[in-house]
Amino acid sequence: MKAKVDQDVCIGCALCTEICPEVFRMENDKSIVYVDIVPKEVEDACREAADKCPVSCIFIRE
Ligand code: SF4
Repeated sequence: MKAKVDQDVCIGCALCTEICPEVFRMENDKSIVYVDIVPKEVEDACREAADKCPVSCIFIRE
């Protein structure tokens, strides 16, 4: 599974980094995905972050 943040849409609320710090971190007031492949054990947290992102700018590819 892979994840991606649309930098143009992210509002920098940092919610995804709180829900799934293993995948997302803040950089220059935007969230970035810093892993190539989402580790199996945090896939659910990563999906939750995507679901809860207020501007729906996290995209998951299974
Ligand atoms: S939850 Fe969405 S808007 Fe908030 S920092 Fe993460 S990607 Fe950006």
